[in-house]
Amino acid sequence: MNSRDSEALAGLLQDRGYTLTDKPENADVVLFNTCSVRQHAEDKVWSEVGRLQKVVSRQSKVHGPSTMDHRPIIGIIGCMAQNYKEDIFKRTPQVDLVVGPNDLTSIPALLDALNKERSRALAVGAMERERNLYVSQYRQDKNHAYVVISEGCNNFCSYCVVPFVRGRLRSRNIDEVLGEIKSTIAAGIKHITLLGQNVNSYRDSNGRVDFIRLIEEVSRIEGLGTFDFVTSHPKDTSVELFKAMARLKNIQKTLHLPVQSGSNRILKLMNRGYTREHYMQLADEYKKIVGGSLSTDIIVGFPTETEEDFNDTVDLINGVRFDAAYIFKYSVRPHTQANELNDDVSLEEKKRRHKICLELQKKISKEKRCLEKS
Ligand code: SAH
Ligand code: SF4
Repeated sequence: MNSRDSEALAGLLQDRGYTLTDKPENADVVLFNTCSVRQHAEDKVWSEVGRLQKVVSRQSKVHGPSTMDHRPIIGIIGCMAQNYKEDIFKRTPQVDLVVGPNDLTSIPALLDALNKERSRALAVGAMERERNLYVSQYRQDKNHAYVVISEGCNNFCSYCVVPFVRGRLRSRNIDEVLGEIKSTIAAGIKHITLLGQNVNSYRDSNGRVDFIRLIEEVSRIEGLGTFDFVTSHPKDTSVELFKAMARLKNIQKTLHLPVQSGSNRILKLMNRGYTREHYMQLADEYKKIVGGSLSTDIIVGFPTETEEDFNDTVDLINGVRFDAAYIFKYSVRPHTQANELNDDVSLEEKKRRHKICLELQKKISKEKRCLEKS
């Protein structure tokens, strides 16, 4: 989602006459589009901003103080902006611009103002986008494009910051989605990924078009090569979806279905809304009906996760035999319900569980690849 937002914003700025550079130290504007899902992602941003500040102040020492007038406008935008708001200015004095994910369309005008008069600008008000961010035709990849179908999330998984920084679920109008896909195809890009935090909860604003209807409509678009979608939530994924995936010729037979944990006790604490049995049954039905690849996300070391809970996760990985799994160590996030729980699994233990899952998944992925080849 963040990559697509960065690309859309780069498009808006290019339409205003800006050009892209891969040398931030020579740029007039440097924007860090940030993710707050895990602490680690935020730490990387703080250190990159610090690094850039050092380079800029070294340049001013070498080339004289007048260079300071030309130092780049530095912006922290996206989820961290929403998460920390004006505190970012206190923590990083060189930052000029702080803009939340739902205010990104205000950036061109804010940059115009900062270029006229150097001060600081903050836009973190909106919990919904007032204007469509995805109007620019700019695409980095000339073969494949992401198309956002919904923004925000209503699920409030107890560990997750997304509903607090990106706001509640808003589905884009079906005509807007189909229009964006058609113009992308007209520009020569034939492969599409539909994007949403929980694509299965898509509902067109008139309430009549659900996700299955949407993929049927997308599938009919003339000139489309193949398409897929991320991310699906197990509580809203159904056999009907699998039947549609089996029926539609140009949909890719891949499903990313994050399970998060194999323990019913932890799933309940995570507020995921399904049980391990339900998940395993879905995975079986998917294999039978669609027969495609299945990947997942797993969090280890959620508060109170015991060895027994963790073994349930290992057991589930062995039972489902995913094609790929992204394993994360639990990270405490502000605003969330789990923030109230004691983060009682030590970092050492999280690392141990993380390693066990990674190695197990590596072994399974390798075995499955060998089977495919033979
Ligand atoms: N909307 C998607 C993805 C959300 S973020 C979904 O529901 O699946 C991507 C992944 O990051 C999540 O699936 C989860 O595994 C992980 N994640 C989210 N919050 C986390 C946290 N606080 N600590 C560790 N991992 C987290
Ligand atoms: Fe976060 Fe859960 Fe929503 Fe995914 S479904 S974005 S994990 S709250």
